Amino acid sequence: MSKDLASFHEALLQSKRVLAVCGAGLSASSGIPTFRGAGGMWRKHNALELATPEAFRKDPGLVWQFYSLRRHNALKAAPNAAHYALAEFARQRPFPEFLTLTQNVDGLSEGAGHKGKSVEFLHGSLFRVRCARSWCRYERFDISDPITPALAVPEGEEDGAWRDVPIEGLPKCPECRTGLLRPAVVWFGEELDSQMLKRIQQHIARDPVDLCIVIGTSGTVYPAAGYASQVKAQGGKVAIVDIDCSVRGDDADWLFEGDAARVLYLSTFPLSDTC
Ligand SMILES: [Zn+2]
Repeated sequence: MSKDLASFHEALLQSKRVLAVCGAGLSASSGIPTFRGAGGMWRKHNALELATPEAFRKDPGLVWQFYSLRRHNALKAAPNAAHYALAEFARQRPFPEFLTLTQNVDGLSEGAGHKGKSVEFLHGSLFRVRCARSWCRYERFDISDPITPALAVPEGEEDGAWRDVPIEGLPKCPECRTGLLRPAVVWFGEELDSQMLKRIQQHIARDPVDLCIVIGTSGTVYPAAGYASQVKAQGGKVAIVDIDCSVRGDDADWLFEGDAARVLYLSTFPLSDTC
């Protein structure tokens, strides 16, 4: 396993097809709280338990407050060097040469100009909302903050005691007029978009990927975790970039421990000088 940035640059230059798989670590230096690890609490609630369809059915006002705060925080955050490095690389190597799969829902990749076919959002986006009724297909892009007056984040009380939000104060579906809108993110217990998974699988199967870069994800969440193994099995190389690489398996070809922003900036911007 190598920590040599120069050989990684060389591999990046030589690779015809590159796949990046990104998780929360990509956005870490943008200061996005993930509500994971270290308690993972928001107010008195376990944040992971709020990200479920059951929680939304039981108390949509509470779940919407949690997402309203996450939208608010994400809108205040700025993309970091790693987001810009990936966006720049995608510009230099358009799809299908380079494809990014991200588990992040924070909108920072899009903010860095990384969008279109070259990036797939595995877990959706905080800034897409859709009808909570399964039979209604309504969905839209929405960056309003607050999304309704009742969901405004009180100044200085981001983690504090919000008032209860009645159901009348939540966003409604303008199409069926009976459903509430919900964040178009994939909650625990929900399936990822099957069309998207099919597209990704076809992309990987069509021509072998030469290099897979795993950025800021623990590598335990499927299907993202499986893509690196798949690339490896097809004869490609794997590089891991993460703050903490201590729990990694040893099948990676490169391992870079540290802030994804610094490592990716150093890894990709020398490329623009040599092209
Ligand atoms: Zn609807």
